[in-house]
Amino acid sequence: MQVVKSISHLRVLLDEPRRSGRTIGLVPTMGALHAGHVRLIERAREDCEFVAVSIFVNPLQFERKDDLERYPRDLETDLDVCRRADVDVVFTPSATELYPTPPLCVVDVRQLADHLCGRFRPGHFSGVATVVLKLFQIVLPDRSYFGEKDAQQLAVVRRLARDFNIPVTIIGVPTVRDPDGLALSSRNRRLTPSERARATALYKALCEARSHIAGGITDAEEVTRRARAAISPDATVRLEYLEVVDADMQPVTVISGPVIVAGAMWVGETRLIDNLGCIPPAADLEA
Ligand code: AMP
Repeated sequence: MQVVKSISHLRVLLDEPRRSGRTIGLVPTMGALHAGHVRLIERAREDCEFVAVSIFVNPLQFERKDDLERYPRDLETDLDVCRRADVDVVFTPSATELYPTPPLCVVDVRQLADHLCGRFRPGHFSGVATVVLKLFQIVLPDRSYFGEKDAQQLAVVRRLARDFNIPVTIIGVPTVRDPDGLALSSRNRRLTPSERARATALYKALCEARSHIAGGITDAEEVTRRARAAISPDATVRLEYLEVVDADMQPVTVISGPVIVAGAMWVGETRLIDNLGCIPPAADLEA
């Protein structure tokens, strides 16, 4: 496994697999790798002959400086994880390597960023789309792997590839969870034991929503009202949003087909997100 910091070195290294027609898979990450990231890498390993993982905490997608500074970083352990997962190359650029000067051109994400996290994190998806576009331009992957845990990010990346005619196949990978349902996240490392115990509240609320939808409630407002009630806010947890959206991340009022119920919840100083795909009974019959 090679570890590469510079764009020019990475391009030289990718030249040989590309010339020999090997399929190149890219897994973009911000590091502090966990079993969710490993699942993405495994998928890439199954599909592709050459697997690249990028580890870069992208300043452009953090709207809060303290969040960027507190984001967990553990490069040595991450490299061990990548080695064990049989990664071919890990790209670990510095911020000045990717942004030698503050960018004057960034990706403008439109309606896809109007709801869910986009509403609470202005500029976040522009930052995500910009860095993913740069990584695609640098690596020129055939396939790239993203987690369904970040459903809005996955939707943005799919549109990015389509709207900019990027010849890459985007693969969404199902969310990996702890046995009690908590979606794995690098941010979970910041939870104290008592916060960790409360952190499953979001998943439980999403499950509540899913069972109401499966049970035939079609009024999205009613579904979210009941699901919100499943979280008893206290000094530790505060729900930021819980919404029912379609595949384009637009709000749904009447549930008549497959939807995504997505939420964000603060647990102490840590913001967690999660979502579940839900199918109403009628759509289930049609499928
Ligand atoms: P991050 O390092 O948090 O930016 O995540 C890098 C990639 O891993 C993104 O595509 C995430 O959606 C994905 N990912 C993060 N957590 C999980 C998880 N629990 N299960 C599956 N994929 C995940």
